[in-house]
Amino acid sequence: MKYPTIVLKNAAEQLKKRQEENKQISREKREKVYIQIPVLAEINKKIAHLMKQMLLSVTEVNQIKKELKKLISDRETLLEEYGYPADYLEDYYECPICHDEGFVGSDLCECYRKLIVKEAYLCSNLAERIQTENFDTFSLEIHSEKKNMEWIFEKAKQYCKRDSGLKKNLLFTGPTGTGKTFLSSCIAKEFLDQGFFVFYLSATRISNLLDDAKFRRDDARSMEYVELISECDLLILDDLGTEYAFGYPQSQLFDLLERRMISGKRTVISTNMNLDELNEKYSPRFVSRILGNYEVFVFKGKDLRYQ
Ligand SMILES: [Zn+2]
Repeated sequence: MKYPTIVLKNAAEQLKKRQEENKQISREKREKVYIQIPVLAEINKKIAHLMKQMLLSVTEVNQIKKELKKLISDRETLLEEYGYPADYLEDYYECPICHDEGFVGSDLCECYRKLIVKEAYLCSNLAERIQTENFDTFSLEIHSEKKNMEWIFEKAKQYCKRDSGLKKNLLFTGPTGTGKTFLSSCIAKEFLDQGFFVFYLSATRISNLLDDAKFRRDDARSMEYVELISECDLLILDDLGTEYAFGYPQSQLFDLLERRMISGKRTVISTNMNLDELNEKYSPRFVSRILGNYEVFVFKGKDLRYQ
């Protein structure tokens, strides 16, 4: 799986910022202690000098080591006398594993992976929503059609385990306010947390972007977005049917979904339209491709927003 450049670039910037901030913290700590215990500055200077010498000298290594040991012990004693922990002057790092370098050898450190996932959250258009809409906050109680909802909920969880036997794509259909978008968010969060790149957009927005990218070639921003909706591991396409989708725009949307299917990328579509309405709005080819390659879930019940 490949994260888009924008995500990696932002994560790298965040890591750099973290390194600089922590260097600043180390500097401030040192300056504060040096004012209080001036002799420590001298000791530290000597330690640094001896370290350098040790690298250059072959013959006097043992002597240098002995001196170093004494200086380090003096430093610890002094710090403790003034109520500081013995390692107070060591560089401050947020990650004890990679010392904020982001890598352990050539492997990504867990701390850097988390930064990348966080940036992927921000880039997904879902960052805020998934704080409140996820599998942990789901409540069956508020649904009027509990049995149906419970079944879909279990299937959605299964879907996130990827080897679930379900098709790679899902179609959520049902009236407004029956939990389709909520469940899409739940799935999105699971995939983001597993290190996949998820992207959310409404059908209207996608349709407009495809249009802009096609007819205004110089529109770099639209092109960038089109790359995201084409390449993301999981696309959440919300509100299918609200876009203008006759003739050419419809075939563009069809091509996008087709490309994603061929390259094995996942798509979760939600729509307020029922199958009859979809048949009315879209070409038979469009509908049959969707029905053939998407796991269809019919949401039912009262509109949650009025409860
Ligand atoms: Zn780390």
